[in-house]
Amino acid sequence: MRESERPRLRIALSGLCYRSLLAALVREKDEREHGAFLFAKPEAQGLLEVVDVELLQSDHFESQSFGYLELREGALQEMILRAHQSETALIEAHSHPFSIGRVSFSPFDEDGLREVAPHVVWRLPGRPYVALVFGRKTFDGLFWSKAGEPSGAVDLVVDGEVLSSTGESLRRWSPEL
Ligand SMILES: [Zn+2]
Repeated sequence: MRESERPRLRIALSGLCYRSLLAALVREKDEREHGAFLFAKPEAQGLLEVVDVELLQSDHFESQSFGYLELREGALQEMILRAHQSETALIEAHSHPFSIGRVSFSPFDEDGLREVAPHVVWRLPGRPYVALVFGRKTFDGLFWSKAGEPSGAVDLVVDGEVLSSTGESLRRWSPEL
């Protein structure tokens, strides 16, 4: 399927929520990656509305450094359980503060997503799994509504205004051989 034909998913959030998320993920003079999980209610076809945000702290991680963020065992399971109980879709977000251009997921992120996305889609049936990555100036996002290749790209709707993702990750995503 050509990229232009793939569906896009929109994630709605308030300006306040968006600014506090960005401030936590991309910090001044801090090149470390930071992460968060967002919980979102399916509102309409192709639209999720963020209802809760969990900013990840260092005890959620095995490793947190430059270009590398690894969740500790069990942290993802806790987030899946919470999404299951609140009947929300799960959204992972992390940052590439070292990225000043058009941001995209790293090959390391892609490897992780190939494992995590099918698992979460299976655990939270009927809801998409969304991954977001924020650079200093741009963001990118992918979603899966079933196991396998990403279903499409993700845009944000902040206080009603659409912010488009770079789309770089979807363009670059290579089918698994
Ligand atoms: Zn990354």
